[in-house]
Amino acid sequence: MNDLSTPVAFTPTPNTYKSGTKPIWCPGCGDFSVLSSLTKALAKLALPAHDVAVVSGIGCSSRIPAYTSCYGFHGVHGRALAAATGLKLARPELTVVVTGGDGDGYSIGGNHFLHACRRNVDLTYIVMDNHVYGMTKGQPSPTTEPDWDSKLAPGGTGIRVFHPLVVALASGANFVARCYSSDPNGTADILAQAIRHPGFSFVEVLSPCVTFRPEQKEWKHLARPAPVAPTNDPEVAARRLFGDDGFNIGVLYRGERAAYVPHFADERCDAAALAAEFAR
Ligand code: SF4
Ligand code: MG
Repeated sequence: MNDLSTPVAFTPTPNTYKSGTKPIWCPGCGDFSVLSSLTKALAKLALPAHDVAVVSGIGCSSRIPAYTSCYGFHGVHGRALAAATGLKLARPELTVVVTGGDGDGYSIGGNHFLHACRRNVDLTYIVMDNHVYGMTKGQPSPTTEPDWDSKLAPGGTGIRVFHPLVVALASGANFVARCYSSDPNGTADILAQAIRHPGFSFVEVLSPCVTFRPEQKEWKHLARPAPVAPTNDPEVAARRLFGDDGFNIGVLYRGERAAYVPHFADERCDAAALAAEFAR
């Protein structure tokens, strides 16, 4: 007979956070490693899966909630941060992780990105950036190089790229980092730091799309540890990021703003009272 008075130690492994659903990404897609890094980070933090919610929008990388055993919400295109913000404010005890891609997060979701950084609600936003819309067959995204020649944009778009880390910093994100999917342990470590850090944490993960951007396999020769330690000074971080070529890996800014806590934080929504109000 089990002794129910003895607490059982919770010693999760990355497998604790994997659902039985098999990812349907293309073989070699960087998103496999990001999923693995996320489950490693959750195991490292020993967070019970039922205390974590993974929220996404639409796109290849946005399938991640289905592959974890945490609570999940696979929403609509570009709206993951809006849904996650509402969830975190209503259920502050949950750890809320938001996942998605560059098309979802920086284009249709660009407005939400700015304001999520500004609001500084305690969320962790992981963007798997492959400089292309993968799921919808290879259109240029906001981070696509202006001269990238493709069937859908012959000769390239000629439009300068969006710089997500600069935008995040300027908009008020409290933690800004860049990872590379081919470094799953380093990425897991940074994701754990991001989840632990209060306020809005933004982690850009270079995650190659082997199908529409096979040349991104060369990123392994370009990605390297950032040559400087993290700073808590936004001016120093801004100067570094403006001169950044997009391949410095590490925590680049660790701010000290207090996370947003709504003034109604202690009030619980009473469903019966709401129903009565609507019935009036
Ligand atoms: Fe990954 Fe690209 Fe395939 Fe999408 S299309 S699963 S991003 S390799
Ligand atoms: Mg993409």
